[in-house]
Amino acid sequence: MSDVNRLAQGQDYPAPALYIVATPIGNAADITFRARHLLGLCDRIAAEDTRNTGQLLTRYGISKPLIAAHQHNEREAAERILSHLAAGERVAFVSDAGTPGISDPGARLVEAARAQGYPVVPLPGASAAITALSAAGAWAETFTFIGFLPSKPKQRASALQSLAHHRHALVCYEAPHRIDDMLAAARDALGGERRVLIGRELTKLHESLHVCTLAEGPDWLAADANRRRGEFVLVIEGASADAEEGGLDAHDPLLRALLEELPVSAAARVAAKVTGASRNALYTRALSWSSAAAEDQEEDDGEEDGAE
Ligand code: SAM
Repeated sequence: MSDVNRLAQGQDYPAPALYIVATPIGNAADITFRARHLLGLCDRIAAEDTRNTGQLLTRYGISKPLIAAHQHNEREAAERILSHLAAGERVAFVSDAGTPGISDPGARLVEAARAQGYPVVPLPGASAAITALSAAGAWAETFTFIGFLPSKPKQRASALQSLAHHRHALVCYEAPHRIDDMLAAARDALGGERRVLIGRELTKLHESLHVCTLAEGPDWLAADANRRRGEFVLVIEGASADAEEGGLDAHDPLLRALLEELPVSAAARVAAKVTGASRNALYTRALSWSSAAAEDQEEDDGEEDGAE
C-alpha cells in the first residue's frame, strides 16, 4: 500500500458527519486518494445525479446506497440526509462533477447539517474554475467567480456592465449554445482589449485552452465548429488601473451618500465591498473631496478674516 493510501486511511473520519466530496470534472483519474477512500468508507452517498455517480463509483470499484439530491428536491433530500446523520452515519455528498456548491447544489445541505450541529467535512478536488485559473497566468492572480451569468441578453449585459470597473479577473461558466453570445456580450461591455482564456473540455480528450483578446474571441470560436462544443469556462482579465480610475466616478453617488453617515475609511470600505472597486482608490477619491472641502473652508475663513 502506498504512503498516501495509508495516510488517507489513517485519518479520522468522524461519524456522524456530512462529507462534501469533490469529484473529477472529466478525467476519472482526477479523484483524490482521500475522496476515493471516504467514498468507500461512508455509509451512504447523496448525489446530484445518481446514474452518473453510480457509473463513476463503478469505475472506482465502490458500491454504496445512493440518495438523489438535486436542486429540484433539495429540501426533501436534506431531510432524508439529516435523518441518516441522526442515525449516526457518515453521509457523503457529491455533485455531478467537480466541487459541490460551486455552481452546483450543496450549499443548502451544508447549512442544514451545520444548523443541526453535524460536522461538515470538505474533501477538496477538481473544479473547472480553479483548473482554468491555474493555467491562466499572472493577469488572473486575483479573481472573482461569477458562475453562470443570466441567459437573457439584457440581464447579462447589465451584469457585465456592473463589473466593467472590477479589477480582478472574472471567472464564469457558460453553456456551449451561449458561448458566442457570452463572448460578444463581454467584449461589448468590457472592451475588446482585455485577455480572455477560453477553457473547453478541461481534463478531457478534447481539452483546449486558448488565450486571446475579447475582440478576437468570437472570430476564434467561429473559425471551427468544434471549438463551440463541450463545456466551457472563461477567465476574463480585470479592468486596468486606468480604466478603474476613469470609472470611479460611477460610484460617486454611493460614496457621497456613505460619507454622510461614515468616516472616510469606513465609507471607502463599504463602497469597495458593494462595487468591487479598489478600496484604496475610493479612499483616495473620498479624501480628495474632504481636503478640497477643507481648502475651500480655509479660503472662506481667510476671506472672512481679511474682511474684518
Ligand atoms: N461544480 C462544478 C465545478 O466545481 O467546476 C461546476 C458545475 S456547473 C453546473 C457545470 C459547468 O462548469 C459547465 O457548464 C461548464 O461551464 C463548467 N465545466 C464543468 N466541467 C468543465 C470542464 N471539464 N471544462 C470546462 N468547463 C467545465
